[in-house]
Amino acid sequence: MIREPLIFAATADFCGKMKGKAFPAAQLDKRVVSGIGWTPTNVQITCFDAIAESPFGALGDLAIIPDPGSEAVVDFGDGSVPERIMLSDIRTLEGEPWGCCTRSILKAALARLKAVSGLTLKGAFEHEFQLVGSRGETGWAYALAGFRAQAAFCETTMAALKVAGLKPDTIMKEYGDNQYEVTIGPEDGLKIADAAAVLRELVRATALRLGDRATFTPIRDPKGVGNGVHIHMSLLDASGHPVTWDAEGPSGMSRLTGSFIAGILRHAPALVALTAPSAISGIRLTPHRWSAAFNNLGFRDREATVRICPVAGDVAAMAKGYNFEYRAADAAASPHLALAALVHAGAQGIEEELPPPEVTAEDLSLLDPSVLAARGLQRLPADLPAALEAFAADPVARGWFPMEFAEVYLAHKKGELAALLGKSPDEILAAYCSVY
Ligand code: GLU
Ligand code: MG
Repeated sequence: MIREPLIFAATADFCGKMKGKAFPAAQLDKRVVSGIGWTPTNVQITCFDAIAESPFGALGDLAIIPDPGSEAVVDFGDGSVPERIMLSDIRTLEGEPWGCCTRSILKAALARLKAVSGLTLKGAFEHEFQLVGSRGETGWAYALAGFRAQAAFCETTMAALKVAGLKPDTIMKEYGDNQYEVTIGPEDGLKIADAAAVLRELVRATALRLGDRATFTPIRDPKGVGNGVHIHMSLLDASGHPVTWDAEGPSGMSRLTGSFIAGILRHAPALVALTAPSAISGIRLTPHRWSAAFNNLGFRDREATVRICPVAGDVAAMAKGYNFEYRAADAAASPHLALAALVHAGAQGIEEELPPPEVTAEDLSLLDPSVLAARGLQRLPADLPAALEAFAADPVARGWFPMEFAEVYLAHKKGELAALLGKSPDEILAAYCSVY
């Protein structure tokens, strides 16, 4: 059969899905200049394909401009069509970044961090997902048996990540029902989110080619654990030296790290609207699921919104490896938007020279709300409407984004909620499982 190699120019849009159009690879030189036509209202197509209220209506034109530096090409060697994905920016026809382009929003956030502190960001997204086309067995949690059952999937996934230019790190059978986790090595700045977006697609692509299906839904069964996305971050100075760690700082945090994390925790309720933005995300963000439930900083604590991760070794190893992770994220979020929100919150904390947060080391769910409040701690929003309200009520957080962003984003999410009206809790869980 004849074939024309195609590149999929993709944007990780508001609903966290890769959206875009394909063009012949032979046209790349032309497309990086002129782009591919795109419609503003596309950003209001929710994960359920229902179109949320759009201020753009049927009007306007934009261009998707592919970024050749982000290309991921994977030929699985099984005769199937290779994956050819290129992350792209959405620009106006005048060549300006579009206010709802998630990748441009992240670029602006990283530029702000650099402007206020001279810092750049290094990081990686850690992903959990479930294989729903095959059956998991009891007794497989973290077990070799569970790994072996999907060894072909694991090896092919890691090969695909490597061929795509990412840094495969670990893959394992996680705790949940047929749940797996994959980690990759850190990247710099924009590439942190590009890598996350490509990784999700390569996991899905691998599962499909093996006759299975991977879902990154935030949670499948409220009786079990969720599929978390943990965003690992560390800070580098202008000459590329790590400045996250300070042996003298509280729990090893440098002054800048403390302020960065304090900014995240101060704005955590608003951030959740962008980092864990589905109607079921709140089910995962509850105590005793090893996710995150309060706006706290934990030292090696798996139930903290921000956790200082374990590293060991000499001074050089500590300086290089010391990092913290944001755990109140899931794959319903665009990785670019989620990271942009965290970077802005961190930059805000640095700008305001916020003191380092208290490091908690207890089960916060056992404390009285008044005790929590006295310590500046609060529950994360319980559901999407509460998270959207928190974002709408945080003028500082809204102000981090281009002018039209907050209004359009909030309308998008309301459209997503509207598409679920009349469905039972089980139907809602099933709907998310099928679209992510
Ligand atoms: N599944 C947990 C979550 O939803 C994370 C478990 C872990 O610490 O890896 O975030
Ligand atoms: Mg995990």
